[in-house]
Amino acid sequence: MKSYQLKNLNVTNSIFLIASPIIAVLGTAWWLSQDGFSWGIVLMTIIFYYATGMGITVGYHRLFAHRSYKTNGFVKAILLIFGGCALQNSALKWCNDHRVHHGKVDTEQDPYNINEGFFYAHMGWILLQEDIENYKFSKDLLNDPLIMLQHKFYLPMIIFFSFIFPGFLGHVLFDSFLGGFFVAGFLRVVIVHHFTFFINSLCHMLGNRPYDKKQTARDSWVMALFTFGEGYHNFHHTFQSDYRNGIKFYHYDPTKWAIKSLSLLGLAHSLKVTKQEIILEKQIRASLESIEKSSTLSERLDEKIAYLKDEFNQIIQDIHRSGQENKEALTNRMQEIILELREITSQVQVVHA
Ligand SMILES: [Zn+2]
Ligand SMILES: [Zn+2]
Repeated sequence: MKSYQLKNLNVTNSIFLIASPIIAVLGTAWWLSQDGFSWGIVLMTIIFYYATGMGITVGYHRLFAHRSYKTNGFVKAILLIFGGCALQNSALKWCNDHRVHHGKVDTEQDPYNINEGFFYAHMGWILLQEDIENYKFSKDLLNDPLIMLQHKFYLPMIIFFSFIFPGFLGHVLFDSFLGGFFVAGFLRVVIVHHFTFFINSLCHMLGNRPYDKKQTARDSWVMALFTFGEGYHNFHHTFQSDYRNGIKFYHYDPTKWAIKSLSLLGLAHSLKVTKQEIILEKQIRASLESIEKSSTLSERLDEKIAYLKDEFNQIIQDIHRSGQENKEALTNRMQEIILELREITSQVQVVHA
């Protein structure tokens, strides 16, 4: 277990993470007492909330860490400014940590290893000093001039865009510097902090694992609501370069919608999408694995699974050789197999109960 002794703490991070919620509450009270409540300030806070939270998910996460699409320098610059305003470090540092998280997930080298507990994965790791500082997983980012510019001027940039700029907007638009500075600034930072920290904590604890049961990342639509669509985290850890996390059209994934909108406007291209048959194959393998682990299978179910498994293996062989038309029939059959396996899983659970 990591120990939170004074000598192990990262002083700047610890002071900010502890002081910012207190400043946010006191500052909000001060705003209310001085300027009075205003819907304009609330609206501005919501806009800053989405812009900076999605600066992290659209920019830091899916563009810079995973290269799941390409865009131009203008969009990159905007994403680096807003992502920076979420106050989660420079994109270079954030992406390097995140790439290590994917490569070493659930091990001691995972910077936010969930096996150290909820608090550590959520924010404890940020309070502690890191052993080494190197960017060996981010050679591409070290060669990106915009990323390096943001890294170099990170501190003055966030002080201006995260606090002074909303304060100035609050003053000009709603005659309230305090509202802009403390509510759209501090209070918004604290909310974005903890909602995006959930991706590293609760998204490795709550939900199910349809694609890969060997690691802790989970899919949960409830978590997606709080994390700008990153709650489909088992899918993401399995297919990390896909620009989507929620793959069904109705999955709440505003990050995916934003990237798709950018591409429709001609501002993004080369969006990476995992082939459907590869997703289905993973899903069937994960299901078969967990059913086979159950010791309570009846002879009848055993036979049925053996039959489905043979058919599935045949489909996998065929799919690589077949044309598009045939492929559709085969993926449809794979979808049916998933439903049949789901049915079997529910029966196995009944036997368990
Ligand atoms: Zn994760
Ligand atoms: Zn990721």
